[in-house]
Amino acid sequence: MSEETPILKGALLEELTEFFKSIGEPGYRGKQAFIRINRFQARTLSEFTEFPLALREKLEAMGAFPDLPIIQTSKDADGTEKAVFAAGTDRRDEETKKIEAVWIVSEGRRTACISSQVGCTLNCAFCATGTMKFRGNLKAWQIVDQVYGLMRHRGSSMAADDPERLTNVVFMGMGEPFYNYDQALRAAHLLHNPHGLNLGARHITISTAGVVPGIERFTSEGQPFNLAISLNHPDPEGRRDIMDITDRFSLPDLLAAVRAYTKASGKPVMFEFVMIPDKNMGKENVEKLVAIAKSVNCKINLIPLNTNLHNWRRPTDEEMVEFQNALRQEGILAFNRGSPGRRVGGACGMLALTG
Ligand code: SAH
Repeated sequence: MSEETPILKGALLEELTEFFKSIGEPGYRGKQAFIRINRFQARTLSEFTEFPLALREKLEAMGAFPDLPIIQTSKDADGTEKAVFAAGTDRRDEETKKIEAVWIVSEGRRTACISSQVGCTLNCAFCATGTMKFRGNLKAWQIVDQVYGLMRHRGSSMAADDPERLTNVVFMGMGEPFYNYDQALRAAHLLHNPHGLNLGARHITISTAGVVPGIERFTSEGQPFNLAISLNHPDPEGRRDIMDITDRFSLPDLLAAVRAYTKASGKPVMFEFVMIPDKNMGKENVEKLVAIAKSVNCKINLIPLNTNLHNWRRPTDEEMVEFQNALRQEGILAFNRGSPGRRVGGACGMLALTG
């Protein structure tokens, strides 16, 4: 097994097969382990009932099966539920590295919104995660275990007739997936694998604040997952004011990378746009956003501001409808799906271990 994944969890099927051969076991144990972990969300090795006890003990002794425990859950009246997970201890200050993931129930879908890092290195002015201390990247197993932990907690399976069936996964929790590219993409492939959850690639969305090299790599690798871009402002200067990553990757470069992606993949990109009154909802913003949207194969997901950092206010319903209509009148596909989980600090931009 590679150094990146020295454990059973987070390993790809072929890595597991190789691993079992390397410890003198038959290769088919790899597939059995993969299915136990990724299809049945085993929490302990004792659930590997087809493994002889001696083998389970051997694996246990190797520390091959770590756990990502849920330490707190909070449920919103709208059905959305947030879970806090403990991802080990930060060696620098002995604090528990906590992350959050959200089970979003909305419009007949059940979506797991998962974190890719502990905190975030970016400082988007509107996002609470940016105010946390950054405590590092998550391993692929810690990324998928958020999905598996939420499913166990909810009693959810992938059975077609299960009313709690998981339908989507979005990499829109804490962190920047493209600053943890290898582990995030490994996690997406684990979720997509037919021997695991077998979740369709079109039901898995990776969202980036605009890490251009990550978008280029995603494109050149022909990754089958959906790509979302947190655009949030249609103008280079205005975007710089609210998203510091614009200093590193300019808006024109970002849009060029996105156009290359839509061209190569033949798929639309999803632009996320946090509506912030007095910042990005004026007439000139609408015009620039329309120009961008007309030049890129895209859909726009409008999100009302969920935090009150800097005393910025949330738009009123009228302001949101007006903004959305202004885009729609120009033929732009713009949606506003509301903010499930807001009351438990589980909506977009709120994940900062509060609520
Ligand atoms: N770092 C990645 C993954 C996080 S996605 C990215 O930026 O895409 C989190 C989404 O929530 C982003 O689209 C972001 O624009 C949005 N968001 C952040 N803070 C928000 C807030 N206060 N209100 C509403 N949406 C917010």
